[in-house]
Amino acid sequence: MAPMFVPGPVDVAPEIMAAQSRPMLPHRAKEFEAIFHRAADKARALFGTQARVHLHASSGSGLHEGAVRNFVHQKMLTCVNGAFAKRWYDVAVSNGKQATLLEVDWQAPILPEQVAEAVRGQNYEAVTIVHNETSTGLMNPVAEIAAAVRAASPDTLILVDAVSSLGGAEMQMDAWGLDFVLTSSQKCLALPPGLALAAISDRALEKAKTVENRGWYFDFVRLETHRLKDTTPATPAIGLVYALDVQMDRIAAEGLSNRLLRHRQMAETSQAWAAAHGFGLYAPEGYRSHTVTTLENTPGVDMPALKAFLLERGMRIAGGYGPIKDTTFRIGHMGELTVADVQTLLTAFEEFMGK
Ligand SMILES: *Cc1c(COP(=O)(O)O)cnc(C)c1O
Repeated sequence: MAPMFVPGPVDVAPEIMAAQSRPMLPHRAKEFEAIFHRAADKARALFGTQARVHLHASSGSGLHEGAVRNFVHQKMLTCVNGAFAKRWYDVAVSNGKQATLLEVDWQAPILPEQVAEAVRGQNYEAVTIVHNETSTGLMNPVAEIAAAVRAASPDTLILVDAVSSLGGAEMQMDAWGLDFVLTSSQKCLALPPGLALAAISDRALEKAKTVENRGWYFDFVRLETHRLKDTTPATPAIGLVYALDVQMDRIAAEGLSNRLLRHRQMAETSQAWAAAHGFGLYAPEGYRSHTVTTLENTPGVDMPALKAFLLERGMRIAGGYGPIKDTTFRIGHMGELTVADVQTLLTAFEEFMGK
């Protein structure tokens, strides 16, 4: 398998591809309902929640939209220090929400006291935070931010994008007091793209019941009514649900803590290599992502030539994203990849640079 060091879609294990190609079942069949139930049930461990997990036939961005439609009548705060957080803001505005932007320098984390200050006395219905900014390779201190928001504005719901961290970095939704955590299948979960997962707290679901114009496809209240009967209002992504069911068992077999450690070690390997070879790291120390490393192209490596060189060896890396597209590039180290894979990549890099 030619490893892809990109932050999604990532390589998918042959066992998962095989699970996806099993014969279809009608989604109202008892056999499918059992699979749907247990796949979502097992996924709760990844979120660190006792609450419910909804499965959606969409990519993660669909849930950016679902979240603002379900949890916000009008007033919300959006924390931004990267391109995906900015997308959530754009989604909120395009859905007619009155979103206030709390934007900080993209090379800095969102700090708990900044968010506490911004929410105090404002009656925001919700605050959105991206856990792991895939554009900048920065992990925001979500646990601390959530604690600060809860103290400063207890009724504000805390909505978290964990698209590029869930299954690769720690997430304790219940312990951290989060209300909504969304992710996509094609990143750390190492499934094919097309499935989005959302964990929803009880109080968030209660709030949703009071919000008008939630829409239909992403109406979490409607989805919950169906979920309680082990089904969905519309046709689920059946093959992806089979795949999720098997992948949850594979992750449990590896052990979630081993999996998280493997991701951290891949990040440390990439970071140490970058420092030793004259590349800056875009994200500051202490806030670097465990799942994607964003390097500054300090030595001025010819990126198209490097990418071509790597591709000849069956490897892919990612360019920069958004406004830092041309000055940075990214090594995705998530999903099924190992430290040995990362070392193979870095050795090829050295070979290229030595040329
Ligand atoms: C990839 C990504 C998204 C977008 O997810 P899609 O599944 O492509 O819609 C959103 N947020 C973050 C942090 C991401 O990495």
